[in-house]
Amino acid sequence: MTTAWFDDLEGRSALVTGASGGLGLHFARLLANHGVSVTLAARRLAALESACSEIAAAGGQADALALDVADAASVGAALAGRSFDILVNNAGISGAGRAADLAEADWDAVVDTNLKGVFLVAQAAARGMREAGKGGAIVNIASILGERVAGGVAAYAASKAGVIQLTKALALEWARDGIRVNALCPGYIETDINRDFFSTEPGQQLIRRIPQRRLGRAEELDGALLLLASQAGSYITGASLAVDGGHLVSSL
Ligand code: NAP
Repeated sequence: MTTAWFDDLEGRSALVTGASGGLGLHFARLLANHGVSVTLAARRLAALESACSEIAAAGGQADALALDVADAASVGAALAGRSFDILVNNAGISGAGRAADLAEADWDAVVDTNLKGVFLVAQAAARGMREAGKGGAIVNIASILGERVAGGVAAYAASKAGVIQLTKALALEWARDGIRVNALCPGYIETDINRDFFSTEPGQQLIRRIPQRRLGRAEELDGALLLLASQAGSYITGASLAVDGGHLVSSL
């Protein structure tokens, strides 16, 4: 249900990348529930179309857009001539593996998707916002692994640290265009990206190290996402907001 805080979202348009499943689909449903016309983007068009039908059946407005965020030509073709008020730059992959054995192709896949992809889509979306002359809000989905590290996630952690620093750089450059750029840093939220891991003993041990002693739920990101995407966050830009059950302040 729409609350007074986020009423300005009604009638806006948003692009959500990585919306064929997981958190991206959750964010697309959330924005649609607040009256935003949502474009769901990812590589799997059939999954996007089925998500759009579901959103439309619930009374929302949604359309599907096939694109590969890691491919500049794909991003350029998909976003040519389009403009959005809000971008949720969410597409990402995990890519675990010890640094000593990490193949170049695996490094490239993670960094190209998580960091270059965020840049390419932000750049294309900001062009559209600038041409429309209305400004806008960009929310980059980073991770607490952009702030601290764990074993076996060197490429992922480096890519997400890059997203946090990129967020600040873009916020600085684009403030004069009325474009706010912020990062949302989720802690561990159960989705397809990590479900297998959390059913293992190391996964269970990790949960015991979270100060709140549990995984987050997707809906626990809603307040932060809506804050950064709406006029409720009109003076917030270049910020990174962790939503992590206290994981970043866990004891060393
Ligand atoms: P997920 O369930 O695996 O979903 C990832 C999404 O990204 C899918 O829709 C996938 O769609 C899309 N995607 C992947 N590569 C793409 C590409 N090259 N081009 C376009 N779309 C692409 O993962 P999730 O857990 O929802 O994660 C979403 C974001 O939150 C990621 O950036 C992740 O790093 C971040 N995050 C998640 C957690 C967590 O605990 N879940 C914590 C911190 C941060 P297609 O396969 O159809 O392209």
